[in-house]
Amino acid sequence: MNVPFLDLKAVNARFASALAVAGRDVLHSGWYIYGTQCQAFEQEFSRYVGTACCVGTANGLDALTLILQAMKLKECWSDGAEVIVPAFTFIATAEAVNRAGLTPVFCDVDENFTLDVRKAESLVTPHTCALLPVHLYGHMADMPALLALARRRGLKVVEDAAQAHGATLDGRKAGSWGDAAAFSFYPGKNLGALGDAGAVTTDDEALAGLIRMLGNYGARKKYYHEVLGANSRLDELQAACLRVKLPALDRDNRRRQAIARIYAESIRHPDIRLPYAGDADASVFHIYPIRTPRRAELQSYLSRAGIGTLIHYPLPLHRQAAYASYHALSFPHAEQAAAEELSLPMSPVLTDEEADYVATTLNHFSL
Ligand SMILES: *Cc1c(COP(=O)(O)O)cnc(C)c1O
Repeated sequence: MNVPFLDLKAVNARFASALAVAGRDVLHSGWYIYGTQCQAFEQEFSRYVGTACCVGTANGLDALTLILQAMKLKECWSDGAEVIVPAFTFIATAEAVNRAGLTPVFCDVDENFTLDVRKAESLVTPHTCALLPVHLYGHMADMPALLALARRRGLKVVEDAAQAHGATLDGRKAGSWGDAAAFSFYPGKNLGALGDAGAVTTDDEALAGLIRMLGNYGARKKYYHEVLGANSRLDELQAACLRVKLPALDRDNRRRQAIARIYAESIRHPDIRLPYAGDADASVFHIYPIRTPRRAELQSYLSRAGIGTLIHYPLPLHRQAAYASYHALSFPHAEQAAAEELSLPMSPVLTDEEADYVATTLNHFSL
């Protein structure tokens, strides 16, 4: 049997005819940026997440960057003010902080690969302006504790929800907890476009207006530029594709959770640690991350059995060449996660038989 890590072509083939119609409608509308599709998607996505506002952006990195730039303007944060980010995440989380002229302060993660709240508290200084938790792999960070910490210390909370479309905690969706949240619709995400796309969700109308202005060349009114902004807009074609796929998101996430249950119930191996003991409901399983001290050996064994896997991520941020000035720091959980994590096949088009085959093959990995 051959089980690819992710068959994106099959994921999108399920929507082929509706996507073709959507694409044709945009083509014939004669309007390609900032039109009715973007507006409608923003309304539909903010209703889905449960926030008052949504602003489409060109990608997830821009969504994060624009939130931080807008908060910096609105709250009068000084250059270099500190934002606490997990040391173990995709680099965009921290890069957005740098791009906004702020300083990322790395913090270790907990057993669930998300921001360790107690360690975050110990890193708060008079220069700290925000916490930036990531719902890594689709699993919600401990938002109640993070919001309590933020309230105690007068900090903003920005969620990186790029991997967590539709994830819920205490009945509230990812993207509705913080002061603002960033989403990515990169094709491989749980809600993926057919190209780059992103969005910000927030209840703060003034902040949303500022973000829209910053992403549209600093203009609220065409050709009247209040500040030097960026070009970061959700185009009509991507918005139309996202509108086709959004109604299927919950069903797709439930399918990912069903695959995760098969993995959790079937995989038994002394060298393999499964994620989220007793806490699997808080994830929409963008990734199914197992841990093993024998990763290289296991990955090539699975590959020989026709099973595709990936590593998310081989280096924590403080070990990246791009963050050379942080090399002296040490974050044991982040380092161990980077050394041991292996992502199993996971997608809404994976069959039960394929998941069973992955589990059985893992169980036969030699002792
Ligand atoms: C994908 C991703 C981003 C960035 O999204 P892009 O659309 O690729 O810019 C940010 N943070 C996390 C955690 C991601 O997985």
